[in-house]
Amino acid sequence: MKVTQAYRFALNPSSAQERALRSHTGAARFAWNWGLARCKERYAAESKWYGAAELHRLWNAEKKADPALAWWAENSTCAYQEAFRNLDRALADFIKSRKGQRKGRRLGFPRFKKRGKCRDSFRFSTGVMRCAGTTVTLPRLGTVRTYESTRKLARRLEAGTARILSATVSRTAQRWFVSFTVEVDRAVPVRHARPGSVIGIDLGIKTLLAGADSDGNVVTVDGPKPLRARLRKMRRASRAHARKQPGSANRRKSAARLARLHASVASVRADALHQATTDLARRYETVVCEDLNVAGMTRNRRLARAVADQGFGTARRMLSYKCARNGGRLVLADRWFPSSKTCSGCGAVKTKLPLSERVFTCEACGLVLDRDVNAAINLRVLAASGAESPNAWGGCVRPGRAGRRPLNQEPGTALAGKTGTAAR
Ligand SMILES: [Zn+2]
Repeated sequence: MKVTQAYRFALNPSSAQERALRSHTGAARFAWNWGLARCKERYAAESKWYGAAELHRLWNAEKKADPALAWWAENSTCAYQEAFRNLDRALADFIKSRKGQRKGRRLGFPRFKKRGKCRDSFRFSTGVMRCAGTTVTLPRLGTVRTYESTRKLARRLEAGTARILSATVSRTAQRWFVSFTVEVDRAVPVRHARPGSVIGIDLGIKTLLAGADSDGNVVTVDGPKPLRARLRKMRRASRAHARKQPGSANRRKSAARLARLHASVASVRADALHQATTDLARRYETVVCEDLNVAGMTRNRRLARAVADQGFGTARRMLSYKCARNGGRLVLADRWFPSSKTCSGCGAVKTKLPLSERVFTCEACGLVLDRDVNAAINLRVLAASGAESPNAWGGCVRPGRAGRRPLNQEPGTALAGKTGTAAR
């Protein structure tokens, strides 16, 4: 199975290389702004804008004509070309979003990028891109050291089971990263190593996730709660930052400190999620979880921190591709399935269950169970019933909203109730 995946490495550039990296991000930013200005001009006159190829042609003519742009040659042409492609896509996405053809929140019109206020990145799509040991080789920049070993990708490249499509270089809190987009030829098992194994998981507020599997085991993974644990530290750092004189050297330093704190939290969180999801995908053929409306949840301010902290969306995305690569699948229960409010013992459904109630107590049969574990059991049962009768739960759990389906499905996912027919 050919899949596209990313390999990301933290870079340890020399000072000359770091200058080149900064120069390239500057070039990409300049090209974006230059292209956006051209598009706006044309739109005012002709009600249409330029495509990436047209912009590139215009740029090639202008960079030679204008002596003030003579610096262009210091950077790879890829930096400019890919910036035009990004702009092209941003404009297309804006139109799609406005017409309602695009998932997620509505996108605004692309804006000009400002140094220090935008994400620093650029992309190579052609030229020499390879890796070996603790180095990567990129066009123009040459061989750059990395902090970790690149052997996983290097081995695949050597064996011919991977092909680098592009390399994106970006900066997060003073650290540079390269992310290779790689086409990988993966050997995917026809059937999962443990056929028939099912686990229902509930991405929790209190725990990272709670699961209940078909053998009756309860699996709970406590999240490191990195954000909450460091919140005080971060709050202090941001208060200190706010007191600094705008435009001062101290303000710049405190901003960098704050950014480093955020970046470290994000990487701790990603690591915990990677470990938990890799483990689940290896151990269970079918993983069932709720199709949470993450964008909607993060708008609820009380829940927002906990949800963002645990990275619901990230966990779901990781499970989706990791299940697929192990020969299993991820089943998404409909958003309106009352997994938390249903008793896993007798099936009685509560009308209300505040989030503060961490223990599920059934008035009908007297069952007392951890809230997240109860939900996980319900999700597992849902998957099992869906496999037997394709339309189980169909009408009753989605009053008035029956037939709603996600617009786009990630590979390896199926919607509960359709599990009998969905192919991997
Ligand atoms: Zn009950």
